[in-house]
Amino acid sequence: MTERHAVVVGGGIGGLAAAVALHRHGWRVSVLERAPQLGEVGAGLTLMTNALRALDALGLGDTIRSQGVPDTPGGLRTSTGRWLSRVDAAEMTRLLGTTALGIHRAELHRVLRDALPTGALHTGSEVTDVDPDTGEVYLRGSAGLRADLVVGADGLRSVLRARLWPTTPPPAYAGTTAWRAVTTVARPVPTAISWGRGTEFGMVPIGGDRIYWFAAVTAPPGLTVPDELAAVRDRFGDWHDPIPALLAATPPESVLRTDLYHLATPLPSYVRGRVALLGDAAHAMTPNLGQGAGQAIEDAVVLGAVCAGVPATGVPEALRAYDRQRRPRSQAIARASYGMGRFGQQLRNPAAIAVRNTLMRLVPARVALRNMARYADWHPPASR
Ligand SMILES: Cc1cc2nc3c(=O)[nH]c(=O)nc-3n(C[C@H](O)[C@H](O)[C@H](O)COP(=O)(O)OP(=O)(O)OC[C@H]3O[C@@H](n4cnc5c(N)ncnc54)[C@H](O)[C@@H]3O)c2cc1C
Repeated sequence: MTERHAVVVGGGIGGLAAAVALHRHGWRVSVLERAPQLGEVGAGLTLMTNALRALDALGLGDTIRSQGVPDTPGGLRTSTGRWLSRVDAAEMTRLLGTTALGIHRAELHRVLRDALPTGALHTGSEVTDVDPDTGEVYLRGSAGLRADLVVGADGLRSVLRARLWPTTPPPAYAGTTAWRAVTTVARPVPTAISWGRGTEFGMVPIGGDRIYWFAAVTAPPGLTVPDELAAVRDRFGDWHDPIPALLAATPPESVLRTDLYHLATPLPSYVRGRVALLGDAAHAMTPNLGQGAGQAIEDAVVLGAVCAGVPATGVPEALRAYDRQRRPRSQAIARASYGMGRFGQQLRNPAAIAVRNTLMRLVPARVALRNMARYADWHPPASR
């Protein structure tokens, strides 16, 4: 077969995973990343079983597992520390074959980057437009290039999505702003999320003594505060142990804050001609189910599988198969993630919170686990 060339727009988790998947199936890949260099980005991440199985399909599962920490027993709590629901990691392993994994985002990114073929990554390359019929990709300030397949992995504010689906509304604010940081504490910390009134605090061990924490509050978009860590301490400093200790150990400069946006109007298709969208470009979702990156990696694996052994002329048809396999599942997960935010972090009415908490305590652990497994129990497709 003559050489087939895929251009991947965006060097985030989704774009790198797509390039690795396509390369494994014999494609020449070029990743065009707007940033002048790929830095140490973000804080921590939870990779659910589906994400780990997708990474296994890319040949990277063992490396990732060696970098992260399997979920320690944990679950959902109130702001006082009362358990609402507990996850038994051993039971989860029995059900799914593997637990979830906490990992530093930069480590996941590095493992994906290291799996790229030499010379595939082009930083400082900003894509401005694409022709879905010819595969012509246009770059700011330099000559464009032509590809048999163009992967739009350019994130939440995707240029390719805006160009090819101009009538789809842009991402909508989900009503929440979230702080994130990584800190170090020399004591065991369970993986857990605690809910207050319109607030949530989560903690995930990610290796060594490092703990990734996140804190979310319902707020108008564009909130500004003079000191991010002080703002978190104001809101969460009197929550249950070990939250005050985690905040006390956090270097102020490590705290990031993000207003959460999602694609509230789902796309009618993820593909057009020779272009496929993937990751946040296709289905930006709120982080309440910890599935955004996982879905991006699943997209990448499925894209690789449907394009395996396909000649350049067969790309549009292969992409239609990708759309059929990926859109229903990823859009269902995006909806469920938003719903989880409304039911959990965003709930403010004290009576509704009391009813929710009582119901959660009554749900048997086995049932709660099966609910969690609903989206995490995914298997990669067999390649052609
Ligand atoms: C607070 C928070 C917590 C989260 N927690 C989790 C979690 O625990 N588990 C999980 O699975 N997910 C989580 N997510 C979601 C996850 O981070 C995202 O879904 C995932 O990173 C999306 O990856 P991506 O590659 O699609 O997009 P991005 O990571 O946004 O990458 C897009 C890339 O494209 C580049 N780019 C953009 N435009 C252009 C252009 N025109 N030309 C060239 N390059 C361009 C950008 O510079 C960027 O590098 C969380 C998200 C948030 C906000």
